[in-house]
Amino acid sequence: MDLLDGEAAGCLTIILRTRGCRWRRCTMCGYASEGAPATGKDLMVQFLAATKDISSEDRVVKIYTSGSFLDPVEVPESIRAQILDGLAAAGVEKLVVESRPEYVTAERVEDSVGRIRTEVGIGLETANDLIRSHSICKGFSFKEFEEAAEVVHAAGGSVKTYLLLKPLFLSEGVAISDALRSAREAAPFSDVLSLNLANIQRGTLMERIWMRGEYRPPWLWSAVEVLSRVTFAPIICDPVAAGARRGPSNCGRCDETIAEAIREHALSQDVSVFEDLDCGCKAAWERVVELEDLAFGSPLDSDSRRL
Ligand code: SF4
Ligand SMILES: [Zn+2]
Repeated sequence: MDLLDGEAAGCLTIILRTRGCRWRRCTMCGYASEGAPATGKDLMVQFLAATKDISSEDRVVKIYTSGSFLDPVEVPESIRAQILDGLAAAGVEKLVVESRPEYVTAERVEDSVGRIRTEVGIGLETANDLIRSHSICKGFSFKEFEEAAEVVHAAGGSVKTYLLLKPLFLSEGVAISDALRSAREAAPFSDVLSLNLANIQRGTLMERIWMRGEYRPPWLWSAVEVLSRVTFAPIICDPVAAGARRGPSNCGRCDETIAEAIREHALSQDVSVFEDLDCGCKAAWERVVELEDLAFGSPLDSDSRRL
């Protein structure tokens, strides 16, 4: 399910195995290992297999490529056009894709919007250029994000902005304030914000630092804190790998309940789902937020999570 015009609607998510992202340097992203040499024909075979059983229930279709759907080297222009035509013919109401800002051009977005309502997801991660550049190695500035968002809007599309909760080298408390500030600064350029909770992907710098016990994915309480304070813009969150060793987590006992509340909030945008949540570990999380900055930025509870 996904949000469509403020209501929950059926959604089909397709992951196309393309050659992958051309940037592939972000410190938390393991997508580089997921690509494969794929011709345009290969991509069409994948797309047709994925949409074989598409039904009228699937009002929203998301196409992810572990890179940028609008990068013509990843998805050739002619294949993109065939995919868009296929979705429009199937009666899909809305398409969601992802792209780095450098591939967002008026022509590409107009091409898409002319066939189907289109949302472009952009991984801004944080509104802070210093954190984006040094902690994430993202390779673009807030200004470039802003310009790409303007291009999408001018072409009649909408923008989903991804924010990363807890990039490397940030304490739990700084991560929360960075996400809150980022939400506030990105909201004017976004139709919806999507909070991604950092998880440990293979082959990344984040994994190497986590293995040394010097990084911990965010607490789920931190996600709740951010989501309940962002009431000025729509914000969704899919707590991928919640409670898993490599994912965002609390104490283990309350993880599933909190993850469920986060999923419920994504569909209802109702912050009251967080009101009655409680667990003995909440006090520990509060102490971590308060004290971690005094511990030279190292996570206070990393030992139990070391390999
Ligand atoms: S996070 Fe996005 S831009 Fe960065 S390497 Fe991964 S796919 Fe590429
Ligand atoms: Zn707990």
